[in-house]
Amino acid sequence: MSLSTSIQTPNVTYEQPLGLFINNEFVKGVEGKTFETVNPTTEKPIVAVHEATEKDVDVAVSAAREAFEGVWRTVTPSNRGRMLTKLADLFERDMEILASIEALDNGKAITMAKLDVGNAAGCLRYYGGWADKIVGQTIDTNTETFSYTRHEPIGVCGQIIPWNFPILMWSWKIGPAIAAGNTVVLKTAEQTPLSGLYAAKLIQEAGFPPGVINIISGLGRTAGAAISSHMDIDKVAFTGSTLVGRMILQAAAKSNLKKVTLELGGKSPNIVFNDADIDNAITWSNFGIFYNHGQCCCAGSRLLVQEGIYDKFVARFKERAAQNKLGNPFEQETFQGPQVSQLQFERIMEYIEHGKKEGATVALGGDRHGKEGYFIKPTIFTDVKPDMKIAQEEIFGPVIVVQKFKDEAEAIKIGNDSTYGLAAGVHTKDLNTAIRVSNALRAGTVWVNNYNLINYQAPFGGFKESGIGRELGSYALENYTQIKTVHHRLSDAPFS
Ligand code: NAD
Repeated sequence: MSLSTSIQTPNVTYEQPLGLFINNEFVKGVEGKTFETVNPTTEKPIVAVHEATEKDVDVAVSAAREAFEGVWRTVTPSNRGRMLTKLADLFERDMEILASIEALDNGKAITMAKLDVGNAAGCLRYYGGWADKIVGQTIDTNTETFSYTRHEPIGVCGQIIPWNFPILMWSWKIGPAIAAGNTVVLKTAEQTPLSGLYAAKLIQEAGFPPGVINIISGLGRTAGAAISSHMDIDKVAFTGSTLVGRMILQAAAKSNLKKVTLELGGKSPNIVFNDADIDNAITWSNFGIFYNHGQCCCAGSRLLVQEGIYDKFVARFKERAAQNKLGNPFEQETFQGPQVSQLQFERIMEYIEHGKKEGATVALGGDRHGKEGYFIKPTIFTDVKPDMKIAQEEIFGPVIVVQKFKDEAEAIKIGNDSTYGLAAGVHTKDLNTAIRVSNALRAGTVWVNNYNLINYQAPFGGFKESGIGRELGSYALENYTQIKTVHHRLSDAPFS
């Protein structure tokens, strides 16, 4: 099988790399394996890509190690920053291509895909700016020493990303790792390998030395597992399911105790108080769950509405959700495309059936949309009890459960009744309510009178079983640096 092919989308025709990107070259896998990626809108294969196995992970890690010990150390921090900035420019230059790949391979609406590419470019540029601003401290001690800290790179970083934001997650992982002077082996998700490979081509063009950033396509149980258990990877960063997050932590513990950061799932409460601006709360609650087809780790999937406005709010929310335009991701008006894969489609439909059996009411949707493609109608469940499976487990689709609450204390209690703690929303006009409830919710992000607005300048990550560590902002750099303390004795006198 060749190493690239021409792909035609409704928007652009472009040359798609298919190989593993190691040492700045596209190569075939050692074992010659390939796997297909499927267009979720048509359910038909798009193309096959070369598949990395354990042996290819070894090759990529060796390349990353050699670069880390060699050429990458000779590149100044400012030049690291310049390369990231150039990469950001190239993302913007090729916005149409990258966004079209996301619409094709992931099924996300083209308008949303363009936002992802713009944010990915912004994130790379932001970390380009950080590259020469990573500094330690000088410290006065009780002995006659000159003591200082250095924030040094960790080394070779393994990064495993999911399929829900393929190019955005790529940038969230690459940006801080490279700014801090690490080298990287990144594995894309098997459902969506194409945009990450196209971006690899841009790595070459941005001028990164060979081996600094390596991008491989492969399956989780083989290539992913090989990364998390590798003895020469110093750190692993993962975004995906809590189940796999636990496996990664175990593999790190059993191998070389590599540092681990995890960004996992959620079942986030979105709380609407009686005094909320109803129009605003409806807009953000709709965006909070149905954006990206519900495939967001931070989705506001539990809507808690205060009893004084419950009936009115639910009626209006149903009306709003029913207007979301489902369809071909390449059409400008489309808001919701298909779920990413048949497996995800089936998992979500199972949850919907379970909710019906548990006695919840389907207020909207509850079945597939159309005959072709993995489309699911926006689905709203009411009459939901907190202990129902659909109220506890992450569905990761366009499905929301609505619950009623009496007062602030009850909202906080239901809101925190989850093993997850990724995000939450609070809608109220009262400043004190907003601050009290934000403080009481056990979540890594709280949105007040909005939802799902993420900025690369501010940290993102989870409390409880939603993760370890923070991505984005200056905080992410802590995951990619280790601190060295140097004590320099200032006297030549004999020690007594
Ligand atoms: P997943 O966790 O299996 O996949 C995410 C990434 O992990 C992929 O790159 C995959 O190849 C890799 N992976 C899988 N098994 C691995 C292993 N044993 N070792 C190392 N890497 C491995 O997620 P999924 O099966 O595609 O989706 C299942 C559920 O995960 C979803 O329904 C959703 O609840 C959750 N999810 C969460 C996020 C998020 O952003 N937090 C993203 C995707 C999926």
